[in-house]
Amino acid sequence: MRHFRRRVLVTGGAGFIGSHLCERLLQAGHHVICVDNFFTGVRENVAGMLANPYFELIRHDVTFPLSVEVDEIYNLACPASPIHYQQDPVQTTKTSVLGAINMLGLAKRLKVRILQASTSEVYGDPQVHPQPEGYWGNVNPIGPRACYDEGKRCAETLFFDYHRQHGVPIRVARIFNTYGPRMHPNDGRVVSNFIMQALTGAPLTIFGDGSQTRSFCFVDDMVTALVALMESNDPAAVGPINIGNPGEFTMLDLAALVIRLTGSRSRLESQPLPQDDPRQRRPDITRIGQLAGWVPEVGLEDGLRRTIAYFRAQHDIGTMIRAA
Ligand code: NAD
Ligand code: UDP
Ligand code: UDP
Repeated sequence: MRHFRRRVLVTGGAGFIGSHLCERLLQAGHHVICVDNFFTGVRENVAGMLANPYFELIRHDVTFPLSVEVDEIYNLACPASPIHYQQDPVQTTKTSVLGAINMLGLAKRLKVRILQASTSEVYGDPQVHPQPEGYWGNVNPIGPRACYDEGKRCAETLFFDYHRQHGVPIRVARIFNTYGPRMHPNDGRVVSNFIMQALTGAPLTIFGDGSQTRSFCFVDDMVTALVALMESNDPAAVGPINIGNPGEFTMLDLAALVIRLTGSRSRLESQPLPQDDPRQRRPDITRIGQLAGWVPEVGLEDGLRRTIAYFRAQHDIGTMIRAA
């Protein structure tokens, strides 16, 4: 039976999406246990929650077994930005695969629901556009992105096998590019790069000719959808389920928008396109709409304004600290 106030484990809870999720779960009245090894996450992301008696923070690496007693698990632990997940690719695969095995073993013992933060990267460089969940993808298994893409694909396999073999109640969410406050300024992802470059007057680095596309989802919308998917009792909620904002933009569109919204005088600078960089990406979100009535509410311009305000405040603080 699912109680109103549950003990919820969030792995990767000190990261960008994870910290917003922890906050939302606390607001809903749950007890949150946040597990993180602080590889890309930082304590500041959860600083505002540390005084809350219903929040616990545990430093732990999910590639090792974990024994806690909880009613529900969100498995988000994994670096998400290419520069971070390629820094120690073996550890990235271990985090996805061994992390999934350990968290699924925990869910199996406790007989609780577990949600996996999967990714649009399971579609690789997609030849079907927009991407529906039934598309099997186009991933290079030996390229520099494979540690992330194949790690996440194997994690999906494990989730479905624990579901079929052991009856573990699973939710698999395929998350598309998400942005918002608390992205790390040096995270390397395009939204944080462009905003930091625009705010500091540095050139905006356009990889390749900038005609590749992405679909950007604001973090508040993402968290609403993840919680709705976890809560849904519909048999289809097992997934996989795409979550993202179907608005599709080229990197040149994004750069122009960031320059306009920041009022920056930065110029654009071409840099080589990284190997295996997907050409296009846009979610088909029919399933999550049918299942949870979810559609994203925050458009790119509105979301960027909020994200820029956050980075501006961080940058001002950074300047003040350096000047002191
Ligand atoms: P993030 O890097 O900010 O957060 C990941 C968190 O996991 C960090 O706090 C990090 O310290 C922690 N972590 C990494 N390895 C760990 C380990 N072995 N043990 C314990 N903790 C570990 O990234 P994010 O953007 O918040 O992404 C969260 C999840 O969502 C990830 O699983 C990511 O793959 C998935 N996702 C994100 C996006 C996106 O655009 N942000 C898109 C698709 C999927
Ligand atoms: N596991 C864990 N916490 C638990 C239960 C299991 O971390 O409370 C880990 C356990 O160490 C094992 C993994 O989950 O490596 C998979 O568990 P499962 O029961 O599927 O496999 P087994 O223990 O039989 O190898
Ligand atoms: N990108 C870019 N300049 C940057 C960082 C990224 O043009 O400074 C491009 C990158 O090549 C990719 C897109 O922006 O085509 C999104 O990159 P990101 O790393 O944010 O996410 P992912 O490639 O994982 O979707």
